[in-house]
Amino acid sequence: MKKIILHRDKCIGCSICVDLAPDFFTMHVSDGKAFIINEPDATIQKGTYPFMDDMALAEMAQKCPVNAIVIK
Ligand code: SF4
Repeated sequence: MKKIILHRDKCIGCSICVDLAPDFFTMHVSDGKAFIINEPDATIQKGTYPFMDDMALAEMAQKCPVNAIVIK
């Protein structure tokens, strides 16, 4: 299973990723940036999301306008 890496410092808070995976991402109340639910608070967060296949994960990452989401 591929890992999702979220670079929170790049995020502009457009919420596209939250719309695509609302049980994985949320918008953090403190700074209005995307946040991976249930992962430690960090500038760079990592997590896995079993409900999307690798192609869907790649498509989601491509929709982030600032390339803050990396799939590895
Ligand atoms: S799609 Fe990118 S810029 Fe938009 S909220 Fe998600 S991480 Fe932030």
